Amino acid sequence: MPEGPEVRRYADQLDAVLTGLPITQLTARTKAAKAWLAAHPEAFVGRQVERVFAHGKHLVGLVEGDLFFHAHLMMWGSWRIVAPTNLLALERDRRERARIEVPEAVALLMSAPVFDVGEGDPYEAIPNLAGLGPDALPYEGPEAFDADAFLARLGDMTNADRTIGAALLDQRLVAGLGNYLRAEILFACRLDPWRRVADLTPEKLTCLCRTLPVLTRRAYDHRRTVPEGTQERMLREPALVYRPGSEWGTRHFVFRRTNLPCLRCDDVVRQLHQVTYKDEERTQKRIIYFCPTCQQTTVPVKPPKPRPAHASS
Ligand SMILES: [Zn+2]
Repeated sequence: MPEGPEVRRYADQLDAVLTGLPITQLTARTKAAKAWLAAHPEAFVGRQVERVFAHGKHLVGLVEGDLFFHAHLMMWGSWRIVAPTNLLALERDRRERARIEVPEAVALLMSAPVFDVGEGDPYEAIPNLAGLGPDALPYEGPEAFDADAFLARLGDMTNADRTIGAALLDQRLVAGLGNYLRAEILFACRLDPWRRVADLTPEKLTCLCRTLPVLTRRAYDHRRTVPEGTQERMLREPALVYRPGSEWGTRHFVFRRTNLPCLRCDDVVRQLHQVTYKDEERTQKRIIYFCPTCQQTTVPVKPPKPRPAHASS
């Protein structure tokens, strides 16, 4: 599932091929966008794309004439960019949700349930954008992360009883974190995912504010959350990975490293379902990956499963 760094890469690609060019056609299959386009036919045609950017997991395009488009990929969405000459060869795909054409490129939104178009400020028109917390991946660099805004939102009394593992997924507190980034950030800060927000020490809060934008930026720049040296170590030591010699499984400290040795201590990485949202009607859970020793967790964990066969050979 795309998180902030992955959505930013899509925004970069779209910005590179669309910005500065007039839209020759914009079509959509999502209900909201279809209705708006039916009421404003041809509104986008001939208008120049001014900028495409990401805020957390949201992608926004600003178009001449105070127009915008907005997309959220949710679980399965993706963008594809094709040359117009290749478009004819491309079979009409049922998964296509929107299409933005300029003279030299066509951007296809696939499988994403959220695509809106409209006029005016998208932050006023789209409630989910208006409520977003500070971006974990500021365009100006990690040092520009708005830690004060993050801490203020986290400190809101309604968050006191939530676990930090759940809170980090709430896009209103900080925008752009998903399941891999939250696990990695919590491990890097040696923080128990089940720790109540109200019980976080100043040291842990400081660590979160410092680590969160740095790991997110590293994921954007290098598609990994571990430093280069740690990845090299995993490539060298077969016992640290599921598939020795493969780059797969060498990108993260704990994410998808269940039953493999912790990179910091003698313990073994575990996974458990963590409740991330709960009300009267529904309970949501996501898998959290963690080291019980480094992160001093108190949840009961079963003995680790035997390591993959190749790891002991
Ligand atoms: Zn450990």
